[in-house]
Amino acid sequence: MAEYVIVGGGIYGCAVAWELAKRGADVLLLEASQIASGASGGLGERGVRANGRDRRELPLMRLAYEIWPGLREEIGGHTGYRRLGHLLLIEREVDLAAAPAQVWLQNQQGIESHLLGAAELRELEPKLSDKVIGAIYCPKDGVADHSATTRSMAVAALVQGAAIREGARVAGLTRRGEQVFSLRAVIDGEAVDIPVGKQVILLSNAHVGDFVAEQLGLPLPICRMLPQVMTLRADIPPPMTRLIGHAHRTLAIKPLPDGRVMVSGGWRGRWDEALRRGVPIPEQVEGNRLEAVAVYPALADLPVDEATTDRAEMLCVDGIPIIDYLPGAANMLAGVGWSGHGWAIAPAVARLMAEWVLSGERPELLAPFRYGRFL
Ligand SMILES: Cc1cc2nc3c(=O)[nH]c(=O)nc-3n(C[C@H](O)[C@H](O)[C@H](O)COP(=O)(O)OP(=O)(O)OC[C@H]3O[C@@H](n4cnc5c(N)ncnc54)[C@H](O)[C@@H]3O)c2cc1C
Repeated sequence: MAEYVIVGGGIYGCAVAWELAKRGADVLLLEASQIASGASGGLGERGVRANGRDRRELPLMRLAYEIWPGLREEIGGHTGYRRLGHLLLIEREVDLAAAPAQVWLQNQQGIESHLLGAAELRELEPKLSDKVIGAIYCPKDGVADHSATTRSMAVAALVQGAAIREGARVAGLTRRGEQVFSLRAVIDGEAVDIPVGKQVILLSNAHVGDFVAEQLGLPLPICRMLPQVMTLRADIPPPMTRLIGHAHRTLAIKPLPDGRVMVSGGWRGRWDEALRRGVPIPEQVEGNRLEAVAVYPALADLPVDEATTDRAEMLCVDGIPIIDYLPGAANMLAGVGWSGHGWAIAPAVARLMAEWVLSGERPELLAPFRYGRFL
C-alpha cells in the first residue's frame, strides 16, 4: 500500500511526486492516460511569467524564479527553460498612467520590473509597431518546454523511487468518516481498489470539479476552459526576441526555438461533445492572429501553421487556484483552478504542497489559496 497516492500525471502530479519521493516518502501516481496528456502537454512552450500576474501569486513566482534556472540539473532532464524576459506592451495613455503603480507593486514583491519608454523599448524590440508607446519589462521572466519538463519530472520521480501507473483512471473513493482510505481506479477496463496509506493528492485538473462534486457532494467554483494556442509558419526569423504580453489586447507571443512564432493569450475553443475535446473556432484563431499583427506588422504575411484548443484547464471564479484540504476528506489535498497560468508557479507550488503534506502545516505562501476564502 502506498502512503501517498497522487491523482494526475501533469506537471503538478509529477512535481509533487518528485518532491515527496526525494524526501523519502512512498508515492504512487495514477494517471488516466499518459504523462503530460492534459494541460501540461501539447503545442509550443509555456510562459514562466510574473509580469501582470495576480498579486496573490507573486510570492510564489519569486520562489519559482529561484527554482526554474537550476531545475534541469536538479531533475536531470530537459526543461527547455530560457530566461528571455517579458514585455507587457502598452499602447494607450490610460495604461501608461497605471503602469508605474504596477511596476512599484511587482518590485515590492521581489519581481524585478522596469517601466520602459518608447525609445528604450525599441532598443530591445526594434520591430514593434509605432503604436506601442511603452512596456513593463520583467527581465527574469521566461519560457519552458512544458511537455519535456513534465516528462522529465516524471522520470525524476521514478528515479527517486515513486511508482507511476499510466492508464489508471480514478473513478471513485471510499471514506471512513472524513478519511479517504481507498481510491477506485479503472485499469485495463477493470475496476481496482487502490488503498491509501496516508493521504491523497488530487491533481487531475479538468477532472477535479466533477470528481469532488460526485464523491464529496462539494461543488467548487471552477469551470472548464479551452485555451487556444497557435503557431505561425517560420517563413521569416521571429521579429521578437522576448516573451510578449499586452496591457489591453488578448495576446501573448513567444519566439519558439524552431523558428516559429507562437501566439496565444486567452482566446478560447469550443467543446465538441462527439470528439470529447476542444476544437478551434476560426474567428477566434483569426482574432488572435490579428492582435499579434497589430503589434508586430511583420507577422502579417505568416500563415497559421497549427492551432489547437485540445488541452483543457480549469478557471476559478476569482482567477487564482484552490490549494487545500477539502471539507469531507481530511486527508485529501487538492490543487485545481490554475486559471490558465498554473505552469510558471508549478515547481514552487509543488514544493510547498509536498512540505505541507509531510509536515501537516500549511505553508504561509499557500494561505491565499484556501478553499475557505469563498465561504
Ligand atoms: C493552452 C494552454 C496554455 C497555457 N499557457 C500557460 C502559460 O503560458 N503560462 C502559465 O503559467 N500557465 C499556462 N497554462 C496553464 C498550465 O499549463 C496549467 O495550469 C498546468 O499545466 C496544469 O497542470 P496540472 O498538472 O494541474 O494539469 P494537467 O496537465 O491537465 O494534468 C492533469 C492530469 O490528470 C489526468 N487525469 C484526468 N482525469 C483523471 C482521472 N480520473 N484519474 C487519473 N488521472 C486523471 C489527465 O490525464 C492529466 O494528465 C496554459 C494552459 C493551457 C491549456
